[in-house]
Amino acid sequence: MNFKVPRGTQDILPDASWKWQRIEKIARSICDVYNYKEIRTPIFEQTELFQRTVGDTTDIVQKEMYTFTDRGDRSMTLRPEGTAPVVRSFVENKMFGYADQPVKLYYTGPMFRYERQQAGRYRQFVQFGVEAIGSDDPAIDAEVIELAMTIYKRSGLSDVKLVLNSLGDKESRTAHRDALVAHFSPNIEEFCSDCQNRLEKNPLRILDCKVDREHPLMKAAPSLADFLNEESSAYFEKVKHYLDLAGIEYEYDPNLVRGLDYYNHTAFEIMSTSKGFGAITTLCGGGRYNGLTEEIGGPAAPGIGFALSIERLLLALEAEDKAWTDEPSLDVYLVTLGDQARAKGFELLGKLRENGLRSEMDYMNRKIKAQMKSADRLQANYVVVIGEEEVLENVVQLKDMTAGQQKKVSIDELFDELK
Ligand code: ATP
Ligand code: MG
Repeated sequence: MNFKVPRGTQDILPDASWKWQRIEKIARSICDVYNYKEIRTPIFEQTELFQRTVGDTTDIVQKEMYTFTDRGDRSMTLRPEGTAPVVRSFVENKMFGYADQPVKLYYTGPMFRYERQQAGRYRQFVQFGVEAIGSDDPAIDAEVIELAMTIYKRSGLSDVKLVLNSLGDKESRTAHRDALVAHFSPNIEEFCSDCQNRLEKNPLRILDCKVDREHPLMKAAPSLADFLNEESSAYFEKVKHYLDLAGIEYEYDPNLVRGLDYYNHTAFEIMSTSKGFGAITTLCGGGRYNGLTEEIGGPAAPGIGFALSIERLLLALEAEDKAWTDEPSLDVYLVTLGDQARAKGFELLGKLRENGLRSEMDYMNRKIKAQMKSADRLQANYVVVIGEEEVLENVVQLKDMTAGQQKKVSIDELFDELK
C-alpha cells in the first residue's frame, strides 16, 4: 500500500523547514518589540464557537470546516482561524480584568479549512496572527497594521500594498444593509443560491461572492462609504492619520469586505503586487471586531487583529525572486581517521557543541575523501582533521574553508582559533 500526504496538505521537508523557522523568528521578534505576548490555544474547539463568531453565512462555516463528533457526542471543529479561539480564551480567562489593557497577544500554528486546493490555498496552513483586545483607540489599529507590514518588510518583501476600508459601526452597517436588501431584492433570483440565502441573513456577504462577481448589480451596489455615520468616519480618519504618522502608505478600497462576520470599522488586507504571484494575491487580512467578546458571553472589549499565512509569505518571496537561499551552514565538520582519532573526535564534537558551534562528524564509516566531500556539501566553515599522528601529539589540523588555509593547533587553542 502506498500512503500519501492528504490532499491540500504538505510536508515541510528539512531543506525548507529552516525558512519557516526564520519567518517565525522574525515575526516573534517583531511582536516582542511591540510588546505582544504569545498565546497558545487548542487545535480544536466547540463547533458552536465558530458558528457564532465567524458566522453561519460565511464560506468558512458553510463549506470549509473540519467538524467531527467526538466520543462524548460533542461537535468539535479543527480551528479554521485564530481570532475566535483567542477571544474565547480572553473571555474565559477574564483577561478583561488584567491591569494592563489592551491585552496584546499573538499566536502561530496550523489552521484547517476544507478548500479546493490551488496555489497558495491549502487545507492545512500555518497562520501567524495578532490580536489587541480592550482598546478602541484608533492608534492601536495603526499599530497592528504597522506590525503586519513590518513582518513583510523584515522578511525581505517589497512588492506589497496595504488596502484599507472602514466597515463602520453597527448603525452604519444597518443602514447599508437595508440599502443592499432594497438593491438586490427585486433581482435576487438572478444570483446564486448562496447569495439568495445571504440576502436575508447577511447581504454584505453578497458583495464578496465569487460566483456573481460580474453581475451588473454588483458594480452598482450601494457602497458602504456612503453610509458611514459621523462617528465612524471620524474614527476612520484618525486611523488614517496614525498610519500617515507611521509612514505607512495605503490604498482606500470601499469594496473591501472581509470574509468573516465579526468585523467592523477598520478592515484591511495586505496584498502582493508582484507579477509572479498567482491569482490569489492576499497575503494578510485583518480588522476591528468590537462586539465579539459580547457575542460569546463576555463583557465589552473592543479588539483588532490580523492573520497571515506563512505559505503565502514564502510564495511572495519566490514571486519577487527573493526566495531565501542562505540556509545556515555548519560551523565545524570533524574528519577522523582510525578508531582512536574517532574516539577523540567524538569527545571533541561534544565540546564544540557545548560551545554553541554547529558541528558534525561522519557516522557512515567513510574514507577521508568522502568525509571531506560531506564537509563541502554541508558548507562547513571549518574542517577539523584528526589522524593517528594528531592523537599522539594532542593536536588537530584546522582547515579554514573560506581562506583555504590549514594549520596545526593544539586542542586547547582550538576554541580560541574558532572564535
Ligand atoms: P481568501 O479570500 O484567500 O480565501 P480569507 O479571507 O479566507 O482568504 P482569512 O480568513 O482572512 O482569509 O485568513 C487570513 C490569511 O490567511 C489570508 O490572508 C491568507 O494569507 C491566509 N489563508 C487563508 N486561507 C488560506 C489557505 N487555505 N491556505 C493558505 N493560506 C490561507
Ligand atoms: Mg477563504
